[in-house]
Amino acid sequence: MNDDAQSDRRKYEFRKVIEELTEYSGSGTQLVSIYVPPDRQLSDVVAHVTQEHSEAANIKSKQTRTAVQDALTSIKDRLRYYDNPPENGMVLFSGAINTGGGQTDMVTRVLEDPPEPIQSFIYHCDSDFLTEPLAEMLGDKGLFGLVVLDRREANVGWLKGKRIEAVKSASSLVPGKQRKGGQSAQRFARLRLEAIDNFYQEVAGMANDLFVPKRHEMDGVLVGGPSPTKDEFLDGEYLHHELQDIVIGKFDVSYTDESGLSDLVDAAGEALAETEMMKDKTQMDEFFKELHQGELATYGFDATRQNLIMGAVDRLLLSEDLRQDVVTYVCANDHEERVLINRRKNTTDHECEECGDVVPAGDGTREDVIEHLMAIAEQRGTETKLISTDFEEGEQLMNAFGGIGGILRYSTGI
Ligand SMILES: [Zn+2]
Repeated sequence: MNDDAQSDRRKYEFRKVIEELTEYSGSGTQLVSIYVPPDRQLSDVVAHVTQEHSEAANIKSKQTRTAVQDALTSIKDRLRYYDNPPENGMVLFSGAINTGGGQTDMVTRVLEDPPEPIQSFIYHCDSDFLTEPLAEMLGDKGLFGLVVLDRREANVGWLKGKRIEAVKSASSLVPGKQRKGGQSAQRFARLRLEAIDNFYQEVAGMANDLFVPKRHEMDGVLVGGPSPTKDEFLDGEYLHHELQDIVIGKFDVSYTDESGLSDLVDAAGEALAETEMMKDKTQMDEFFKELHQGELATYGFDATRQNLIMGAVDRLLLSEDLRQDVVTYVCANDHEERVLINRRKNTTDHECEECGDVVPAGDGTREDVIEHLMAIAEQRGTETKLISTDFEEGEQLMNAFGGIGGILRYSTGI
């Protein structure tokens, strides 16, 4: 099973839980969220929870007090199963949520090993669960190289998902514009240009060392700085030509220290969103081209699933807005049939299309349709792409094809 596929599926599972948690609310400030970084001692976390539990005794409303204490007890119970936090840390959610008509229901969820390490410990008690830090991790995918420079200093680093990593820095010996007495103006100008050129070479060298080995995994390079430095640097083609080719843009950034790297990412926000969408659009363009002129498009649950099982699907395209479950029924005569239903609807009795035998609702096996298809894809070495609906072709995948499609390796006639 390849790591990318596994991480895509994990991301999808996280996204689903986050979506569920976001919908919940408590009647008071009684929903507890705890973010545990990987290097945190769990004994510290338990001590913190115990402390909060005793402080909760001061809450005036009896109902809120009980709810908060119940949530904390439930979290403490869950923590007992662990000796240490998982590799990327964990997030715990617990609390009594409103279920309508003044009724509440106790909900506890533990998310282990989010796609990126948890950066800091958070204890949060509110009328909503705190899901933003997790949602941010899932927001943007991608690996981008970052370069910020002026004539004095430069920093290079990575943007991995939402996380910025400063890696290397350099400072220059470029003299200021003011020459010293006794130096000829011409000689001074020449030395200064040489020093600038040397510095650009040094910065490019730093960037090349870091980025070139990863150039095939990278989604682009962003360059930031004041004008005209960044323009000179790019126009002079100092970077390795393969990096030069994937420069997404140059952006005005006032600082060129480590904080300049975050300024650069902020400034490039729109361009980054565009790049992300372009990747989805490329997939969908290929799908529509095959649909109209070729034989390598498949769509709809049944056909796509059959092709997947045959190992004929190269890329599985699933809409991020798909909110359906697949229910598998096996009748008394061993006929296996599958039905898609809305995630929020209850399972119903199923009449076997082959023999008419009725399978009671409770005997159906229910599974999220995306997880169902992704699991088959993983076994067959098929890549899964989750396609957003933020552009026209992405919307069409959802509305015209039920959110399920694929590009085949070879034509199967199914
Ligand atoms: Zn049957």
